[in-house]
Amino acid sequence: MNANIVDAAKAMSPQLKALRRDFHRYPEQGWMEFRTASLVAERLSQLGFSVQLGQAVVSECARMGVPDAQTLDEALARARTQGAIERWLPALEGGFTGVVGTLDTQRPGPTQAFRFDLDALPIVESTEDHHRPYQEGFHSLNQGSMHACGHDGHATIGLGMAELLCQFSSQLCGKIKLIFQPAEEGVRGAQSMVEAGVVDDVDRLVATHLGLGHASGRVICAADGFLATTKLDAHFSGKAAHAGGQPEVGQNALLAAAQAALGLHAIAPHSQGPARINVGQLHAGSGRNIIADSALLRLETRGATADINSYMESRAFEVLKGAAAMQGVSVSIQRMGAASACAASPALVEKVVSCLTDYPGINQLVGYDVTPAGSEDATSLMERVIARGGQATYMIFGADLAAGHHHHCFDFDESMMPLALGALMQIALSP
Ligand SMILES: [Zn+2]
Ligand SMILES: [Zn+2]
Repeated sequence: MNANIVDAAKAMSPQLKALRRDFHRYPEQGWMEFRTASLVAERLSQLGFSVQLGQAVVSECARMGVPDAQTLDEALARARTQGAIERWLPALEGGFTGVVGTLDTQRPGPTQAFRFDLDALPIVESTEDHHRPYQEGFHSLNQGSMHACGHDGHATIGLGMAELLCQFSSQLCGKIKLIFQPAEEGVRGAQSMVEAGVVDDVDRLVATHLGLGHASGRVICAADGFLATTKLDAHFSGKAAHAGGQPEVGQNALLAAAQAALGLHAIAPHSQGPARINVGQLHAGSGRNIIADSALLRLETRGATADINSYMESRAFEVLKGAAAMQGVSVSIQRMGAASACAASPALVEKVVSCLTDYPGINQLVGYDVTPAGSEDATSLMERVIARGGQATYMIFGADLAAGHHHHCFDFDESMMPLALGALMQIALSP
């Protein structure tokens, strides 16, 4: 245990709190993290990191669920009025809001990477008196967007780490990469960084999340419960007709979508492990007396492994196409997000456990946790690292929450940020 690290991380508490509250005040949803990413790039560059951003770290064709051009432009204009650093914006423009900072110690050693996500959610933040961000004046100023998952804390820990890596650089070896990923919500962003080659040189990857149902002081070294998932939008197009006068000439997109919804929920489960499907939205038609000529259905599939999820996904495609054929309408299906399931590397987990044993403030250090925990697209980065012979894990730093993730009263125990920072530094310093 490096006591200097523990103290240095603790000493950063006020700075971390202020930075987290700044990010919290200006939440930006996926692919629109212009202000956030520009501040990250500026700080990394000030600290002497080599900074890559925009299309150098985000592959255009692998982005999923990107907002339309007008929405992106409006978000960029807003970022300019909220203190974004102008010199980085041209690279980020158009929704290429990823940043990677690399510190090369010039000493032989592994390339270690740490991944932090940047994006907020489409939620109207609470303005109730008991909600601390409102009470203490750091609630969202961007109506309809909110940091309700803790990614403001993640970005803060990442920048805190940049600071301490510089401070302790004489004790480091190899290269350290800090990966700031856009659009984690909806699992839309990680694959674009994978395709851009961001982790192709990485020997060890640690991804992290605050909270996730674990109390302050509890640290999970390997969260292995994430499910592989695919998010799909299906657009059905038919032909409108007078429902009383000429129903036989219509092609009913609403019925196709409705039949698809039932058929999707009737896909058989899988013998090799848990599988899930959910149709979460169905919008169709334009009026009572009109054969509906359009319908939009939003669904997701999940599976304990990538194979199980791809079974669910391919069956879903068959159901969607079959339902369309029944009504003589067409269907176009778009992938709006995807993430894999990825087990942590045992050797790295062992190392993390030994690094953090006796770390002050960690009162429960857990090796593996396999509780089903939804999905996370860091798994795509992990999968690539492991496929290329490296090691990866996903850590959870427990933090007491005021309300659950994605709730309009979400808030987390800020004192866990310095703890997470010190713990990650401890790992970085153990080659
Ligand atoms: Zn979330
Ligand atoms: Zn999250």
